[in-house]
Amino acid sequence: MNMSEFIASMPKAELHIHIEGTVSAAKVLELAYRNGVDIPYATEAQLLAAQDYGTPALKNFLDYHYMCSSVLRTGQDVFDITREFLNRCLVENIRHVEMFFDPQQHIEY
Ligand SMILES: [Zn+2]
Repeated sequence: MNMSEFIASMPKAELHIHIEGTVSAAKVLELAYRNGVDIPYATEAQLLAAQDYGTPALKNFLDYHYMCSSVLRTGQDVFDITREFLNRCLVENIRHVEMFFDPQQHIEY
């Protein structure tokens, strides 16, 4: 077993994860289309490039995060991103997850 295989097989813990922040680029595009939400990106490559936050990093990160959260509109959407994340946990042998959900991002005032 080489080092990469050894690390991949090690049991791991995800100690602080906000489920909205786990959405893959592909899922963002899928949910934007499904829910009729306009986002300023048309491809996975554009979304991945946008994850190079530059400066001001915090503002750009939060703008990106809230854009990703904006495509989540239904309980099914949250179910789908949770399933996607937990499937990734299986692949990466993540055995313990402390997951957060931010309902305030999904409430209209
Ligand atoms: Zn947090």
